[in-house]
Amino acid sequence: PGPAVPPQEPFDANAALFERAQRRIPGGVNSPVRAYRSVGGAPRFLSRASGALVFDAEGREYVDLVASWGPALLGHAHPAVIDAVRTAATRGLSFGAPTEGEVELAELVHDRVRRDSTTPIERLRLVSTGTEATMTAIRLVRGATGRPLIVKFAGHYHGHSDGLLAEAGSGVATQGLPASAGVPEPVAAQTLVLPYNDEAALQAAFDEHGDRIAGVITEAAAANMGVVVPHDGFDRALVRIAHEHGALVISDEVLTGFRVHPGGWWGHDPAGPLDVDLITYGKVIGGGMPLAALGGRADVMDLLAPLGPVYQAGTLSGNPVAVAAGIATLRLADADVYARVDAAAERVVTALDAALTDAGVPHAIPRAGSLFSLVLGTDRVPSDYDEVRDQEAWRFPPFFHAMLEQGVSLPPSVFEAWFLTAAHDDAALSRIEAALPSAARAAAS
Ligand code: PLP
Repeated sequence: PGPAVPPQEPFDANAALFERAQRRIPGGVNSPVRAYRSVGGAPRFLSRASGALVFDAEGREYVDLVASWGPALLGHAHPAVIDAVRTAATRGLSFGAPTEGEVELAELVHDRVRRDSTTPIERLRLVSTGTEATMTAIRLVRGATGRPLIVKFAGHYHGHSDGLLAEAGSGVATQGLPASAGVPEPVAAQTLVLPYNDEAALQAAFDEHGDRIAGVITEAAAANMGVVVPHDGFDRALVRIAHEHGALVISDEVLTGFRVHPGGWWGHDPAGPLDVDLITYGKVIGGGMPLAALGGRADVMDLLAPLGPVYQAGTLSGNPVAVAAGIATLRLADADVYARVDAAAERVVTALDAALTDAGVPHAIPRAGSLFSLVLGTDRVPSDYDEVRDQEAWRFPPFFHAMLEQGVSLPPSVFEAWFLTAAHDDAALSRIEAALPSAARAAAS
């Protein structure tokens, strides 16, 4: 017999790719939460996706509850969206000139986001990412008011522009960072961070700084610290207080826009339509392509260049291929699609609740329409970032991995919402239901 061969770990294509990635890409990923840092293990490198399913480097399939972090409302690679992209691509990838599609998309959003005869989207400017949309909206409210300060809420995430990273949700929350290095103190000082759902704190901030506040930016329903809905009357008070002081209100619907309702949160809001000045969109509006937008009151939006003095531009802004994907997605996203997504969310929430109850894990499942998230170790539905953080987050990694082992891919952080799609059919939902009981038991120990 030859020399003893040491036992070998079975080859794992995802782990091998992750190792290779880390040699050339910081942390191996191009967006931090993808690295699985808060749940551990090697991220699944995806090779393709279809409907409710994603497939990893090993060829394993998973029922997907990430949906590209929101955009895939119709499910992955919807044939009509792929066709629209293919057709647009054959005509040219980018022109740097206006196209009819951009006009059509602006008209589509204008017509969709309305209640009776009211629409808040008199004008729409297309950009490439949600970060750009909120960054431009901030510049616009400062340009419109001539004031420097912005109010944001702790745990809300508006992308990664300098002024909006303080106490942000999403990956910033997942990594437990209060802010980002590289943001100069004078820039950070222009952002006042307040607790969410706290009208008294908002009133106090305006009492003290009202004549220097340009605007308030708020997630329409917070979903980047898990889901935290605005309390009854909070948004209405926010708009009133801001407007009384001559400040503008930006409702950030990058995540909720066209996901929870044909008209976004603005169209769905149980409190009725809000008199916000600007709304930002991303994710679903591009159907999985890099497209985002800001829209709102004509007199404010027309301050943008070339009409006004507030500059914004982009080589790829309104990219024709992305616009084609966006138009196809919005045209397909009819009442039936939202009904299916709502029903799928209801089914998963019911099964999740039952599984955790049976396993004896205290929990809450806060919801904003079809968006929901998990709170572990307490049954209190959180109303702000402090309450979100006051949970037993350590229960999540075993839960996550038990789901993954059974072929269900969840967002790899307890601070993220779960995303259903119209492609989550009975087969996909049954697989989620079957996986939940043992994952809940893993969260119990
Ligand atoms: N605003 C909200 C509410 C978001 O959820 C996100 C992304 O998750 C952003 C802004 C930033 O968008 P993007 O990642 O496209 O830059």
